[in-house]
Amino acid sequence: MIKILLIEDEPGIQETIQIALEAEGFSLSIAQTGIQGLQMLAEDFSLILLDIGLPDQSGFDVLKLIRKRFATPVIFLTARNSEIDKVLGLEIGADDYIVKPFSPRELLARIRAILRRTQNPLEIEQNSNSKIRISLEKKLIYFNGKTLNLSPYEYKTMELFFKWPGRIFTREEIMDNVWTEPEDSFDRAVDTVIKNIRARFKEFDSNFDPIETRRGQGYGLKETI
Ligand code: CA
Repeated sequence: MIKILLIEDEPGIQETIQIALEAEGFSLSIAQTGIQGLQMLAEDFSLILLDIGLPDQSGFDVLKLIRKRFATPVIFLTARNSEIDKVLGLEIGADDYIVKPFSPRELLARIRAILRRTQNPLEIEQNSNSKIRISLEKKLIYFNGKTLNLSPYEYKTMELFFKWPGRIFTREEIMDNVWTEPEDSFDRAVDTVIKNIRARFKEFDSNFDPIETRRGQGYGLKETI
């Protein structure tokens, strides 16, 4: 599970972020002050959300202290334009910033973008025995070393599954993440893409199916492939 640390003193924002992140399967720890946040970094986090207006010290100072010991990616939560100017002006090692008030969806998109950069190497293998390999750079998927002939949506659906192994996505989530222009009937569009992906694998191995269908929930990558 991906662990994220939120250093923020406002209860309303803590609650909003907690609900949004936990709904997406992240584990969130919350620190109320800079000092508390720094202490909590004894634990290993994949990403830090850092408020600038903290009660004990500014988020800028906290980041400087974080950077002395950790390279963990940091997203600043900023409240004012004057803070944004400072975030942009200072090269103190924040990875991104988001301006309050922000929507949970926007925050999740920023978090995902950073995690994609920092967590995933350009080539991912499901595991060392896996028959499937993906090249994020070439946007290709290989089955036993042979290139699969996938359409852009088919590739992007597989890429989404690879980035979140073991997770089941609803059809709506798949469409949100993959389609550039949403279609009216997302159920049918997503089902067709899944059917086509399965057919591409079957061209190489008629018994092979890497996709898990969970009735009433959606699709994902099987954990043992
Ligand atoms: Ca604050």
